[in-house]
Amino acid sequence: MGVDGGRHVVIMGPQGAGKGTQAALVAPRLGLIHVATGDLFRQVMASDSELGREIRRYYDRGALVPDELTLRMLMERLDAVKQEHPDARGALIDGFPRNQAQAEALDRAMAERNERIVAVVHIAVPREVLLERLSGRLICATCGATYHRLFNPPKQAGVCDVCGGQLYQRSDDTPEAVERRLAIYYEQTEPVLRHYTEAGLRIDIDGNQPIEAVTEAILAALRPRVEAA
Ligand code: ADP
Ligand code: AMP
Repeated sequence: MGVDGGRHVVIMGPQGAGKGTQAALVAPRLGLIHVATGDLFRQVMASDSELGREIRRYYDRGALVPDELTLRMLMERLDAVKQEHPDARGALIDGFPRNQAQAEALDRAMAERNERIVAVVHIAVPREVLLERLSGRLICATCGATYHRLFNPPKQAGVCDVCGGQLYQRSDDTPEAVERRLAIYYEQTEPVLRHYTEAGLRIDIDGNQPIEAVTEAILAALRPRVEAA
């Protein structure tokens, strides 16, 4: 990243919209590094630490982890990305912000760091489709890659195509936790989109299409913004 800091993109949308799937596909093609707060939490929970146990208390029931802890972890990760990928344009931020307070905290952090959000991609998918997607989702325990039993199956059942890791079903992809997470999304996260509409950053993408079509739509919309930034 340049001396004056990163140029980041935020990817938003309800659980199951395809944020993680698309971020993994588009980030490398735009010179961005995928940073997902949910992945950060899953990594911490995989180690048996006090912090991991604290996060799990929120995560497993589909509640939000406290804002301050989440913001701190995101900023630490952005710092690490800068060190590890000095040539990257910035991060593709997935899973943050989730409420108005987080959106305002992100604005403040960007100003302090002399960095910028250059676009916010919103992937829209109808609720009944989300439920189908979440009930069949599989995740790689090693690299976090996302699959679906029917819609995006791995080449070999239970094994990650990317790294050979083992696939598992997320502990929060249960019907109860999914209900809670979607309720939180529509109550607290969706209203944040207005903030980005007003800032002229919002890009709406129809996520109810095949994975490749969504990727092409995101790339077409983002390229001019990211490359001009
Ligand atoms: P999010 O990160 O927004 O919660 P994911 O990327 O994890 O969503 O996708 C949720 C599930 O839907 C995964 O099982 C994924 O394989 C599947 N999926 C993602 N995009 C599509 C699509 N365009 N069509 C069908 N299934 C999809
Ligand atoms: P995700 O992988 O984005 O679906 O996130 C999984 C879970 O991680 C959420 O249900 C929350 O418990 C937690 N989480 C992820 N991002 C945030 C955030 N920005 N704020 C609070 N909790 C979060």
